[in-house]
Amino acid sequence: MNPVDFKVRVSVRVRPSGNPDQQVVSSTDSEIKLESPLHAARKQPRKFAFDSVFGPNSTQSEIYDSVGLDLMQHAVQGYNACVFAYGQTGSGKTHTMMGTEDNLGLVPSVFKSLIEFSQKVSGTTAVTVRVSMLEVYNEQVRDLLNPRNKLRLRGTGDDCIVEGLTEVRATLVNEVRSLLETAARNRATASTNANDQSSRSHAVVSLTIKQQKIKNLDTELTQQKVSVVRLVDLAGSERVKASGASGDRLKEGTNINKSLVVLGRVISTLSQLAETPNSRALVPYRESVLTRLLQNSLSGNSRTAMIACVSPDADSYDQTLSTLRYADQAK
Ligand code: ADP
Ligand code: MG
Repeated sequence: MNPVDFKVRVSVRVRPSGNPDQQVVSSTDSEIKLESPLHAARKQPRKFAFDSVFGPNSTQSEIYDSVGLDLMQHAVQGYNACVFAYGQTGSGKTHTMMGTEDNLGLVPSVFKSLIEFSQKVSGTTAVTVRVSMLEVYNEQVRDLLNPRNKLRLRGTGDDCIVEGLTEVRATLVNEVRSLLETAARNRATASTNANDQSSRSHAVVSLTIKQQKIKNLDTELTQQKVSVVRLVDLAGSERVKASGASGDRLKEGTNINKSLVVLGRVISTLSQLAETPNSRALVPYRESVLTRLLQNSLSGNSRTAMIACVSPDADSYDQTLSTLRYADQAK
């Protein structure tokens, strides 16, 4: 695999405030400023620059136009693409990735544009889109469309195959929305002190696009291209300690942290390799299940984007700072 061209596009999305009187975040199109809250008034404001910053009034379609469209276009050219939503619980990851029925998130809107593409080229190319959804929870993989399935990870060189995973061919946005609802019901949601609905697993949606050129009207098919768009709603990035975890929760928290740390290291190693191609740095894909799964979406020819989600409120200051630092290192 050739990591030389790797570059991750990093965006930040600020969710609407829950407490407009005490906001500590302000932003322009490419910069975000974090003031320290009143109880820590001595700290200097922090400024970070990113490829794009979306303020609290940003719409789902702005996110699609800036991030989703590029991934979709890359995928239809036959390359893999991948987007992560990173951030503390409640910061807007699931809203950004899944959205609602009349406010589609990235998963349904990328799917929709793939279907529109398939209709546009139907005279010359047969396109199918298959959907799978899994979660990585405690370093184990579960099929979100059929949780009873036994899954097995099998490494094949640069690739990692999940044997036994349900894949559904979909042609309508509503089908994908109902698959997302099934997946959301099946996603691990036991409670922690931080938030009863907190998501402690990484959810990975894969859209596999198969394109076959139709050579002549006898439906003779040749030249197959297969690519995958992966859209990842990461587990909440809050520290385990802050949510008062112990026992199994602590182990689970440690695994969540581990995946996020390894993901950050994979991305920063790839960026480093792109800058100094002669460096012999090893990309630590194999150090977590999540990065093993995503290995062929995280390499030279694939397009990778991260959306760091933050809250503008004073009481999220520490988490926001930690998210912005993580995102800053991924650039
Ligand atoms: P996370 O998945 O990071 O835990 P959610 O996406 O579930 O966070 O967001 C928490 C709450 O805030 C949800 O009720 C969600 O609808 C709302 N929310 C988050 N981001 C936005 C946004 N950009 N616009 C409107 N509502 C939002
Ligand atoms: Mg969520």
